[in-house]
Amino acid sequence: MADRDCWCGSHNLCGFSPEYARCSVCGTLVALAGLSDEALQVKNDDTDFYGKQYWLEHQSKDLGHPDIFGRAREDLIERNLHWLRTLKAYKLPGSKVLELGCSHGSFVAMLRQAGYDASGMEMSPWVVNFAKETFDIPVFVGPVETTELPNGSFDVVALMDVLEHLPDPIGTMRHALNLLNPDGILLIQTPRFREEMNYETLINTNATFLAQLKSDEHLYLFTEDSVSNLFKRLGADYIRFEQPIFHQYDMFFVVSRQPIEPITDPKEGSLLTPKGRFVQGLLDQDRKIKELEEHIKVIDSDRAARLEQILELTKMINEQRS
Ligand SMILES: [Zn+2]
Repeated sequence: MADRDCWCGSHNLCGFSPEYARCSVCGTLVALAGLSDEALQVKNDDTDFYGKQYWLEHQSKDLGHPDIFGRAREDLIERNLHWLRTLKAYKLPGSKVLELGCSHGSFVAMLRQAGYDASGMEMSPWVVNFAKETFDIPVFVGPVETTELPNGSFDVVALMDVLEHLPDPIGTMRHALNLLNPDGILLIQTPRFREEMNYETLINTNATFLAQLKSDEHLYLFTEDSVSNLFKRLGADYIRFEQPIFHQYDMFFVVSRQPIEPITDPKEGSLLTPKGRFVQGLLDQDRKIKELEEHIKVIDSDRAARLEQILELTKMINEQRS
């Protein structure tokens, strides 16, 4: 139906929604009018799609997200701690990490505080400077295809909410894998399309996944199977799906060319260095908040059950009186 092909090479696309088609071979959702590779480069920070305005106006005015100033504060607690907790289960502090599409750079900054040798990359020179100044971190100007970082020089390449934006996910992920040493890992967060999803049901239930259907940005929305298939084609056969922050619409995984297992000895993953202790303190605090949230859920449902009982008893008393 469209003149677009899927990343997998298939042109067998069937209708899904006004702006997306589903690949009948691999199951990925394909944006029908995505931007070209060329259009996604940032040559002019003032006018190009992923230039300065994407971060200052588009995110807040068009998408209702906090702008980059707000995100630089909020992401530390809302996202970065979760990502760090997963990362440190696979690679210890001291590992060399590159975050592609690091935005304001808060995750890179937290990793450095935790003892990782972390740096970031962004397409817009304006954002690169913003991240450098905001967090005092090393950030390269991308895209990764044109940089001269040596192959095999990283233990981790992280891509948070980046994969779905790539016009050529196979090509870009090949570059990312080349940057890794043989047992290196990619750490990825991206929206998760489920094959059983149907556009009408999404609309009728006002599903949170609908917000991911922004076809000018999200060019490919993968399923767990289709993303595994993508990495298999690149020789990265080992993938482990982890708990995502937003489980209603995201997936979060680690992928590698060699078998991957979480580190079992908790002492090894410790952040108890003079700088790392601050991050460990935040992780501990975050764990306590999560436990309290679970506890509040129990209290809330208990309270609702008691209220129901009270109403029932009141009704019985009133009936006996009359
Ligand atoms: Zn496909």
